[in-house]
Amino acid sequence: TTKQLILSEKLAAIGEITAGVAHEINNPIAVMQGNLEVVRSVVGDRAELAKVEFQLLDEQIQRISLIVTKLLQFAKPEEFAGIVDRHAPGLAVADCLPLVQHLLARADISVTLDNTAARQVLMNRTELQQVVVNLVVNAIHAMPDGGRLTIGTHDSDREGRPGVEIVVSDTGVGMDPELAAKIFDPFFTTKRQEGTGLGLSISQTLVRRQGGSISVASRPGEGATFTIWLPEAE
Ligand code: ADP
Repeated sequence: TTKQLILSEKLAAIGEITAGVAHEINNPIAVMQGNLEVVRSVVGDRAELAKVEFQLLDEQIQRISLIVTKLLQFAKPEEFAGIVDRHAPGLAVADCLPLVQHLLARADISVTLDNTAARQVLMNRTELQQVVVNLVVNAIHAMPDGGRLTIGTHDSDREGRPGVEIVVSDTGVGMDPELAAKIFDPFFTTKRQEGTGLGLSISQTLVRRQGGSISVASRPGEGATFTIWLPEAE
């Protein structure tokens, strides 16, 4: 319909503007990062006196840089598209755990890994890993007092099509239906400081590009289960 057409044109325009702004922000960030290093080396030993301040500057610059990267990825996903390769998703899933090990240990979360998928999927491996890491980091955030994280892969058919399900499940705070309906929207976040609200939106874009889907089942106080489905590689 006309309305949908206008909406998709608007979204495309927002994407263009966002990508432009993100590119523009990248240069000043690089300049700041470089000069911070220069200042540090010029003041030499005295940098120790402002150790906390230097660290804060470092962290905040890195934070801006991360947000910009995510914005760009959101606005121009095609620029980030990697080579699509054929692989068993269980490997990509297992590769994620070392990346988040320190977070898991700190929050007292036990992990159960249950890889039974025998089929292979077509998706860039790094991208799939990024999607799973996103889900796992969200799950960890949802369990500040510890809990159980379950990650599994298994063969699963959808509407008669063979595929693989990747399930990430937590025992955290959960969501009511109203909240769950919004979480895939770009920029929607309930995390004030550390949130960009782009994780799930980007994940959905990446999974859909391979003909897959991502969904959530959750209840307040009863944790959340995210399910990715990807078609089997021909
Ligand atoms: P961000 O993590 O930066 O907020 P996301 O797009 O990854 O962005 O997530 C959006 C929101 O979805 C989060 O702010 C949180 O409210 C909700 N959410 C995501 N995963 C979970 C989960 N496992 N349990 C409860 N809420 C979640």
